[in-house]
Amino acid sequence: MPGSLRRPSTVSGQAPSAAVSAKIGGQELALSEDGQIFAAFDRDSPDSLDLSVVFADGRVENKALAIAPRDWQISRVNIARRSGGSSETWWKKRKPEWEAITAARAKETDAAGWRQDFIWPVKGRISGLFGRQRIYRGEPGSYHSGIDIAPGHGVPYVAPADGVVVLARMGFSLEGGLIIIDHGGGLNSAFLHSSKILVKEGEAVKQGQRIGHVGSTGRSTGPHLHWSLKRNDARLDPLLFTGPMAP
Ligand SMILES: [Zn+2]
Repeated sequence: MPGSLRRPSTVSGQAPSAAVSAKIGGQELALSEDGQIFAAFDRDSPDSLDLSVVFADGRVENKALAIAPRDWQISRVNIARRSGGSSETWWKKRKPEWEAITAARAKETDAAGWRQDFIWPVKGRISGLFGRQRIYRGEPGSYHSGIDIAPGHGVPYVAPADGVVVLARMGFSLEGGLIIIDHGGGLNSAFLHSSKILVKEGEAVKQGQRIGHVGSTGRSTGPHLHWSLKRNDARLDPLLFTGPMAP
């Protein structure tokens, strides 16, 4: 069992044998038949979480896990926060998009990609790290919920792990060409701003399979792939799944 964690982070590993269920910070851990566990925490999770394991004989073991803070790229800028996107006209267009994304994210498939070592969907310059945040005249903006990779326009990208495509559509006003893949275990990936989509909703994809082309569709200032990972409601840093990008 890990003694401390970095935030945002994931815990994965082998549960003690005879464990029938485990919870961390009140969150039920995904526990597979062969005892593999997985849990994830997002950027704003608390400094300490309680791990509680229930054994087959009814015994319960509790342990407090400390979560070490992580340094984030925070920049303070002397401009007003852009409020864009709150008008009624905007919401009329955005609501069905937001609903489609929420419904796709809620889909659970029997994909087992969550148990794999993730690979980079594409290699290239990292143009934006997860967690980056701007403070506008003291008012914090939302933090960057994924990682941006900029290999150039039209470069194909691949599935970082096995999964099932739960959404694959062009034309979202913010996301542009958007693919969402469910990896099972509550974990899913989203790929934004694609210039081209190569997969269909409902299709099973293998790790390394080409799924789309990098582009600049939707709200984007230049061609890049925004890749975000979510487990249930927790937003996770893809870098913690892949490790640093090898040349
Ligand atoms: Zn991004």
